[in-house]
Amino acid sequence: NPIQTLLICGGGSSEHDVSLRTADFIERQLQDVDDIALTRVVMDANGRLTDSKGGVHFLSQQRQLVAEDGSARDVHYVIPAIHGYPGETGDLQSQLELFGIPYFGCGPEASKTCFNKITTKLWLTALGIDNTPYQFLCSNNGGEAGKATMALQQWGAVFVKASNQGSSVGCFKVTEEEQMEEALEQAFALSPYVLVEKCLKVRELEVAAYTYEGELVITPPGEVCAPEDTFYSYEEKYAEGSRARTFVEAEGLSEAQLGWIHEASKRAFIGLQLKDLSRIDFFLTDEGDIYLNEVNTFPGMTPISMFPKMLANAGHDFSRYLSSLIREAVAG
Ligand code: ATP
Ligand code: MG
Ligand code: MG
Ligand code: MG
Repeated sequence: NPIQTLLICGGGSSEHDVSLRTADFIERQLQDVDDIALTRVVMDANGRLTDSKGGVHFLSQQRQLVAEDGSARDVHYVIPAIHGYPGETGDLQSQLELFGIPYFGCGPEASKTCFNKITTKLWLTALGIDNTPYQFLCSNNGGEAGKATMALQQWGAVFVKASNQGSSVGCFKVTEEEQMEEALEQAFALSPYVLVEKCLKVRELEVAAYTYEGELVITPPGEVCAPEDTFYSYEEKYAEGSRARTFVEAEGLSEAQLGWIHEASKRAFIGLQLKDLSRIDFFLTDEGDIYLNEVNTFPGMTPISMFPKMLANAGHDFSRYLSSLIREAVAG
């Protein structure tokens, strides 16, 4: 009997469409695996699940996918391939925990912590891992615009970021005071919490950290290079004609730098109690300082995405990686 695996993609966030592309990749990886039967459903912004023919389903406490006509099929395992709410935020995982259905990826608490850029930073600091200097703004407080302006004056250039987004949505580079109001307005429209981070002149390094056959693997860092005149924005990630370049292994890093990144990744994976997969992003400054930027608990798996490339570069086969995690979890 094949393992009935439910691939849930879409979701209610700004990254809905990115998630569909991630799901395409996962579907291809599992299509030739004999003992895994995959069913794909798309979740809309209201949490409704639909199949490719438009049929509506819901997940039941009996660990079944139930159609509107009452017909049901068992669900042995779930792949919550959703970036942002309600997948990467841990909400769906809470429901799966409640129903006792095993699933791919981090648990609710690690997901929630890492998806929020502010709680991530609090945790990183608690774990002794350097992260980018920032100010924290809350929509319930007065005078936050003044705090943001002071940060800009102090640092010369800043990144204003909504605390709860990915794919660079709600992320703005601000170099002039006139730009601040607009950036804050847009960031606060997405989240009640906003970060104003020191803008660093950096190389951007990314590590894939995942469990392969019971062992934690930390890949060597890859590198993403955004064009000089911008940053690694949503457009540079996904739009037609993106000028960003990616390198599966960054060149010219010293042994000490590689060692620092490896240790910080390991400490973050273990300390934050991550599970199965993550992509951990770093900044390397011109001065040679390294900061951990963020932890992505459900990284993109689109054609430009680094996680699958780094896993392959480490000599691992994605299909084998995922199918063995599924078999282990179901054998439980
Ligand atoms: P994703 O999840 O897709 O990696 P995200 O939405 O979580 O992205 P970040 O990774 O925090 O957002 O930031 C997006 C991009 O903005 C970075 O890849 C980088 O190009 C730029 N950036 C963010 N913060 C800084 C900073 N402090 N200094 C310089 N560049 C920054
Ligand atoms: Mg992110
Ligand atoms: Mg992300
Ligand atoms: Mg990032």
